[in-house]
Amino acid sequence: MRTKLVAGNWKMHGSLAANAGLLQAVRDGATGKAEVAVCVPYPYLAQARAELDGSRVAWGAQDVSEHAQGAFTGEVSGSMLADFGCRFVLVGHSERRSFYGDTDAVVAAKFAAAQTAGLIPVLCVGESLAEREAGITGEVVTRQIDAVLANSGAGAFARAVVAYEPVWAIGTGRTASPQQAQEVHALIRARFARDSAEVATGLRVLYGGSVKAGNAAELFGQPDIDGGLIGGASLVAADFLAICAAA
Ligand code: PEP
Repeated sequence: MRTKLVAGNWKMHGSLAANAGLLQAVRDGATGKAEVAVCVPYPYLAQARAELDGSRVAWGAQDVSEHAQGAFTGEVSGSMLADFGCRFVLVGHSERRSFYGDTDAVVAAKFAAAQTAGLIPVLCVGESLAEREAGITGEVVTRQIDAVLANSGAGAFARAVVAYEPVWAIGTGRTASPQQAQEVHALIRARFARDSAEVATGLRVLYGGSVKAGNAAELFGQPDIDGGLIGGASLVAADFLAICAAA
């Protein structure tokens, strides 16, 4: 039985003052069965640790360098994130892929760097609207996963999470239907089963893309949906906690 995971992605939002109330509310309100995490901007990792340490809410970052250390101005390494107590880090979020040139190869290197530092990578995959309309969703998602499998092997996914995030559903208010999402989640699990039945059975595959309190329960009720990666709704404590409760 896979424990559901609900991870918030704050993206580039927040301030010390605003975060304090949000972190405290999530810490005090996340009392259900699902594992809960928040992925905050780098400057707020210390604040997340101070507010959440000792609670059942984990914290993490939204990106990591593929390098361990060195002359890479502006980058943050996995060991730095581990220093701040991060448990999770997102890799390959569609905004990183489309705005910052994170290719499949870069994402694969970031995934490996995160694991080397002891972090749990949350590998984000998903197709654009044009790709869905062209009928190549499965092909795109499989290509994104295969790049990481080729670099790290299926065994690495015993300590990783996958998030299916159709690009056309992120921040758009347009959610994949539970059936559409389930279809891709099943395909993802089947891809892992080709390499390792054990890894495929244990792997948590999250859905992300305009998840809200009102649609979370039906999405999370699908057999291959093991929780959610939540953007906009993770910035409002009541909304995020309602989604956590639905999981
Ligand atoms: C995300 O940021 O990964 C995301 C899914 O955003 P939203 O929930 O706002 O669509």
